[in-house]
Amino acid sequence: MIAVAEALQLVLQNSSPLRETELLPLAKCLNRNLAHAIKAAVNLPHFRQSSMDGYAICIHNSMDYDLVGEVKAGENSNPELKPGECVRIFTGAAVPDSANAVVMQEKIKLKGKQITLQSDVILEQNIRSIGSQVHKGAYPLEKGQVLQASGLAFLQSLGIKEVEVYRNPKVTLILTGNELIPISEPLERGKIYESNSVLLRAALEQQGIETQLISFAEDTLEATIKALENAFKSSDVVLLSGGISVGDYDFVRDALAHLKVEELFYKVRQRPGKPLFFGKKESRFVFALPGNPASTLSCFYVYVLPLIARLKGGQSEGLIRLFVPLQHDFKSDEPRALFLKASIENKAVSILDRQHSSMLVSFAKANALVYIPENGVFLKRGDLVEVLLLPNTILT
Ligand code: AMP
Ligand code: MG
Repeated sequence: MIAVAEALQLVLQNSSPLRETELLPLAKCLNRNLAHAIKAAVNLPHFRQSSMDGYAICIHNSMDYDLVGEVKAGENSNPELKPGECVRIFTGAAVPDSANAVVMQEKIKLKGKQITLQSDVILEQNIRSIGSQVHKGAYPLEKGQVLQASGLAFLQSLGIKEVEVYRNPKVTLILTGNELIPISEPLERGKIYESNSVLLRAALEQQGIETQLISFAEDTLEATIKALENAFKSSDVVLLSGGISVGDYDFVRDALAHLKVEELFYKVRQRPGKPLFFGKKESRFVFALPGNPASTLSCFYVYVLPLIARLKGGQSEGLIRLFVPLQHDFKSDEPRALFLKASIENKAVSILDRQHSSMLVSFAKANALVYIPENGVFLKRGDLVEVLLLPNTILT
């Protein structure tokens, strides 16, 4: 049994970007990581732009300027201003070469065909200079950068139509358990609706990964081996759920040993998710996640997510961690480290009730996990605790 930090370290040490890359149109690149640094083929902006609605002036030694024209956004005109002349101009419009400042319209007085400045001007004020965002020939985005909405739009603004990104890992899910039934069947005593496939598929989708195969295995050694053999044919990552504990009908560990999957760790001093397995078979990775849904998801977020992020070409260390004040007192004498479903609201964190690993009700409302290190704590309201932000969290 190893500590949380050691387990995470083993995941990070063993994962590196997949070698294959692909050239994709920008619209297909959300959540992907760049396989090469991006070189700017143009200056951004590529012409001097006004950053205000106002007046482009050619400075002289008086506050009064003669209004001689107008430049709208999108126009290609370049009026010739003499010192003491100005043109009406708008945000994003091309500043005439002969203008050397833009004055906000709120900072002038207009009288007929003349404006009077209300305050001093600084040379080049309110003008976005050529290349001030990115110079032609520079490398504004590095290899490995994950592309979010902003990254895609930035590339588009550079005139880039397609980019080389790392391919996504192929992930297979194997759900074990004789008690699991599909939602199409009526519930019978002893059976439950299989839900970990929904859980894992959605959690992967949130990372831009489409699950390639979902298979189900009965609680027998043969069925588990068969499902694994099949998964190994075409997966970079195999995620098993259930059957990894010490029950008489838990066969996942034996099946992994039979298939010579190298064990990198088994069992972590944590709650939930103690019987977590991480291993490798050639270039493929295997996580056997404990079947209780909250354990499955907690282990996914803490350990699987950084693996996936690294295979995709990123530099992830896992979920964002920060220290947040507790909303209430909290005491625990649990020897194992805890990941507790929690909600951050108004800059403080509350640990939710119903923490048991069989329960998803608290997870469904959580936006963070509170991390309590080994051997318990005695905390007072206002004390800082370490929290891991769940993906896509928007704090309120
Ligand atoms: P196991 O890890 O196989 O001992 O399962 C632990 C608990 O998780 C049991 O109560 C299972 O019924 C439940 N469980 C296992 N797999 C799933 C699944 N795919 N969907 C929902 N619950 C599951
Ligand atoms: Mg089971």
